[in-house]
Amino acid sequence: MFIMKNYKQETEYFLKNKFEGDFLINEPLTNHTWYKIGGPVDFLVYPKNLIDLKNILSFCLTGQIPVYFLGLGANILINDQGLRGVIIKLSGYFNFIEKSGDLLKVGAGTLLQDLIIFCEKNELGGLEYLSGIPGTVGGALIMNAGIDKGVISDVVEEVLCLDIDFNELNLKKSEISFGYRSAPELQDKIIFSCFLKFTHQDEEKLRKIRLEQLEKRRKTQPVEYPSCGSVFKRPTGYFAGKLIEDAGLKGFRKGDAMISDKHAGFIVNLGQAKAKDVKYLIDKIQDVVLEKFNVLLEPEVRFLGF
Ligand SMILES: Cc1cc2nc3c(=O)[nH]c(=O)nc-3n(C[C@H](O)[C@H](O)[C@H](O)COP(=O)(O)OP(=O)(O)OC[C@H]3O[C@@H](n4cnc5c(N)ncnc54)[C@H](O)[C@@H]3O)c2cc1C
Repeated sequence: MFIMKNYKQETEYFLKNKFEGDFLINEPLTNHTWYKIGGPVDFLVYPKNLIDLKNILSFCLTGQIPVYFLGLGANILINDQGLRGVIIKLSGYFNFIEKSGDLLKVGAGTLLQDLIIFCEKNELGGLEYLSGIPGTVGGALIMNAGIDKGVISDVVEEVLCLDIDFNELNLKKSEISFGYRSAPELQDKIIFSCFLKFTHQDEEKLRKIRLEQLEKRRKTQPVEYPSCGSVFKRPTGYFAGKLIEDAGLKGFRKGDAMISDKHAGFIVNLGQAKAKDVKYLIDKIQDVVLEKFNVLLEPEVRFLGF
């Protein structure tokens, strides 16, 4: 893509003079991904409100400056060279939970785990099985995050977002074909909030489920290391982790990136792993599993800058 020659000076000028939110220049993305991996981005911005968001989007569109969105960075692998352009993170103004009749209106930047605790305290059932999944509500909607017992789309009523022309849309649940880790109609949108509907559930029961889920994760997943969760989607009829383990790849290492010896579906960062090491292991797993079992594993993790 063509980027105007002096775009860094122009962008800095815009951010200092016409943008109301906060911003960081040349910010290392190790600070913004669960993996603790990723080179610097030219600009990382936090819009103050919806108008601010539209303004920065419009500025980038006019200047043909690449724009990326980041939630908590829990399902992202960003390259070691970093990214030219602007990353937008929705927090602050986009981090809220409000009661709205029998629904909750929730900002896209709200942490999923904060929402789950809020629901527990207010005896609202529906998201408790998502306990322990790191991320924002926006990121969870894009991924239709969850487990076999529940996904975020179970509680969705409406998603409020911008389309590529920055028009505000209220997409009803029936207009989004949520599937396993997918929400096709949301992929080219910028989600800023949503309406969610819950059922009454006893606080103690919700708490019990939440603590059980956390304990289950602690026992079966390498939560002590940075990762992106399950690297691959579950292939029909198989479990990715089992295929990787059966292929003899558990514990296989490249630099500080390792196929977890606790759960082979995870690639963990043992300390100083590079994106290229993780990517090498992802490619290796795909090749070996395809050769041994004739199954092509599809990454669940999203790649930026590759
Ligand atoms: C230890 C661990 C365990 C995990 N377990 C699970 C699990 O059990 N189930 C599961 O489903 N996932 C799991 N994950 C993956 C991850 O937690 C989810 O995918 C989560 O929903 C990602 O949210 P995020 O805010 O971090 O999104 P990010 O990783 O920041 O972004 C994901 C995608 O969403 C886009 N995006 C983010 N916010 C917006 C927005 N407001 N508007 C438009 N686009 C946006 C980004 O551009 C990117 O393409 C796990 C991850 C880890 C590290």
